[in-house]
Amino acid sequence: MQADVVVVGAGIQGCGVALRLAQAGRRVVVLERSVPGAEASSAAGGILSPGVEAVEPGPFYALCRASLELYPSFVQELERLSGLWVGHRAGGTLEVAFDDRMAHVLAARAARLERAGLPVEVLDGDAARRLEPGLAAASRGALYFPDEASVDPRPLARALHIAAAGAGARFVTGQVRGVAVEDGRVAGVDHESGRIAAPVAVIAAGAWTMQVRGNELPPGSVRPVRGQIAVLDTRPPLLRRVVFSEKGYLVPRPDGRILAGSTMEEAGFEKAVTAGGLLHLMELALEIAPGLSSAPVVETWSNFRPATPDGLPILGPGSTPGLHYATGHYRNGILLAPVTAEVVSAAVLGREPRVDLAPFSPARLGSGRPDRS
Ligand SMILES: Cc1cc2nc3c(=O)[nH]c(=O)nc-3n(C[C@H](O)[C@H](O)[C@H](O)COP(=O)(O)OP(=O)(O)OC[C@H]3O[C@@H](n4cnc5c(N)ncnc54)[C@H](O)[C@@H]3O)c2cc1C
Repeated sequence: MQADVVVVGAGIQGCGVALRLAQAGRRVVVLERSVPGAEASSAAGGILSPGVEAVEPGPFYALCRASLELYPSFVQELERLSGLWVGHRAGGTLEVAFDDRMAHVLAARAARLERAGLPVEVLDGDAARRLEPGLAAASRGALYFPDEASVDPRPLARALHIAAAGAGARFVTGQVRGVAVEDGRVAGVDHESGRIAAPVAVIAAGAWTMQVRGNELPPGSVRPVRGQIAVLDTRPPLLRRVVFSEKGYLVPRPDGRILAGSTMEEAGFEKAVTAGGLLHLMELALEIAPGLSSAPVVETWSNFRPATPDGLPILGPGSTPGLHYATGHYRNGILLAPVTAEVVSAAVLGREPRVDLAPFSPARLGSGRPDRS
């Protein structure tokens, strides 16, 4: 089989890049060993929050903002192409303090964001509860990020898959062994039933990136960080907006379900929901919204964030001609999906990406140990 581009992994990054490249007329093959979108991309909370996740102004914050701004048109396009509703919910996010120390931390962060002209409001406890009456009486105040949002990652991942396939990307089931390099440049991708010849390979294998041979990243560049989620059912809905505390977050869905997340665990690839994990989730949920104590727990799961040593994604070309990366999105892969699709496809097509990719280049991680096969 011959292609212009082979994408390794059909999570939200692989499908997004495939969509943009197929729309640009490239013959794209996406190799996925499982069901497209079935791993981290379906396990996420779906929070779109540069203010809480990127924390400080800088290149990462700017990347997150650029992606947040792309979200409304991205969602509209995907809903049109797929016929699915992907649960995009505006209305802002809140980060709540439950003690004086955290209230000071939040106030200092707000001052830095305000000085940089970025959207944030400081609320006292009463004002926060006026926005979200389900918040605990003990909340001491909050940062309100008025233009942040959330999305439902499962239908989003499904919609991206449908849209990319509709645009002409070919999805092939199979375990990828590695990127093939011949004469110093990419020659294709080897998978369980053979080679797909192509001059370009995009590694979008999430937490499993280091298992793709020929990835050319230094050891430890991407590792799995396990996150557990528990879903509670509230009727009528107890919250409207995403609420963060120091311990985690609650993500409400319009139908009343509330996701409590998440743990941050170095547990290798052991997919498990544990007693300790559930305890942590229930404690943070009840601290934020004590009214949840009578809510039934209706679902739990865990999956793996693709974490990098500096917490930044790996985007754009590597040192071997034809090798590109869309991986390492750690806690923010859902937020960063639209901008990743755009900048990685631009780099493949030889166009100027809308953001400077230098801070996210694989080169920042040091020299790789080529393991060509
Ligand atoms: C509990 C949890 C909560 C999260 N919450 C949020 C959130 O609220 N907001 C946010 O922005 N982000 C969140 N994230 C992060 C986000 O989910 C990830 O950053 C994002 O999904 C990564 O997308 P991906 O496509 O790189 O990875 P994945 O979705 O994991 O996709 C990688 C794909 O590659 C395939 N693959 C890997 N190796 C091979 C191989 N050798 N051959 C074939 N296929 C292969 C896998 O099967 C998989 O389908 C959360 C993550 C977790 C775990």
